Amino acid sequence: MTPLEALIRQEITATGPMTVARYMELCLTHPQHGYYVTRDPFGMAGDFITAPEVSQMFGEIVGAWTAAAWIEMGRPAFKLVELGAGRGTLMADVLRVLRRAGGSPEVWFVEVSQHLQEEQARRVSGAEWVKSLDQVPDGPAVYLANEFFDALPVRQFLCAEDGWHERVIGLQEDRLIWGLAPSAGGQVGSVGDWRERAQQAHDVVNQLALRLARAPGAALICDYGYRQKDRPDGLTLQAVRRHERADPLCDPGQADLTWLIDFDVFQELYAAKGCAVRVTSQAGFLTELGIGQRAEVLANASRDKADAIADALERLTSPEQMGTLFKVLGAVSPGLELPPGFEST
Ligand code: SAH
Repeated sequence: MTPLEALIRQEITATGPMTVARYMELCLTHPQHGYYVTRDPFGMAGDFITAPEVSQMFGEIVGAWTAAAWIEMGRPAFKLVELGAGRGTLMADVLRVLRRAGGSPEVWFVEVSQHLQEEQARRVSGAEWVKSLDQVPDGPAVYLANEFFDALPVRQFLCAEDGWHERVIGLQEDRLIWGLAPSAGGQVGSVGDWRERAQQAHDVVNQLALRLARAPGAALICDYGYRQKDRPDGLTLQAVRRHERADPLCDPGQADLTWLIDFDVFQELYAAKGCAVRVTSQAGFLTELGIGQRAEVLANASRDKADAIADALERLTSPEQMGTLFKVLGAVSPGLELPPGFEST
């Protein structure tokens, strides 16, 4: 049994079945045993590979978008803020492009994991680190997040004959098991219908939108998720370990847990604050901003890497891989024009 599982069992024994959100919070960010707190999970040797780790091309395209946003903001002194930056690879690639365009931002990382803060410091010098967005001073800023929101806790609800139930984790014969909390009753819904509510994620998106409303700025959120028109058939929480699906209840704290973002909700939160906001697929965004041409330039510069570059391009943009399931949301302050990247939908 992992040390974290012992703590989870204690908590369930003491206070009853726990919500999926509480379980996620403990598994991912428990101060001693949380998944992100105890390791660097990225890359071939780890559990999963994210877009910035696939290729520098991803960060370079995000850098080009960031430069365009900064120019649209009127080239002010500004902060570049990344939420949940993992190893710091994206930030390093973005800064290279941005500096070439004449931008030299103050760099801020919002990161809970001490271990990953150290990884980030290895790749980006002179930055500031905080554990939550509200610790970053207001002002002109570009905010970036790749696969950050999917790691924030989500609550799950299912509709049965007698109404909606929250999905919970309980103990049975000394095993962690899924269960449903007693119905809160009353609500309408069809049996089998589901909901996921990510309060913390929505709070952060709201904070970002408010910041954009107060000072010139832009936000770029990349993650895997869906639009309402192609909402999945069921609950989206999943566990990944060593590049394969795992049982979310097995060895808590040893696997990554994520859910799929409802991008329509995120989009509405920005629109409600008057921001210009659009969502497109990762493939649409990267292709419109010239990842194909960038791949050619890189391949011509080092022929021995041409195959690896073609593979990375395929991985980032093909619909069978990250191209469609991953989406990009761009938002800018009210009155500013959203930089290109969102023509395809
Ligand atoms: N953006 C990186 C890493 C994605 S993994 C990449 O694309 O490679 C999720 C990141 O969010 C990790 O750095 C993790 O430590 C961080 N994180 C998770 N929960 C967080 C929270 N509540 N506050 C701040 N950072 C968090």
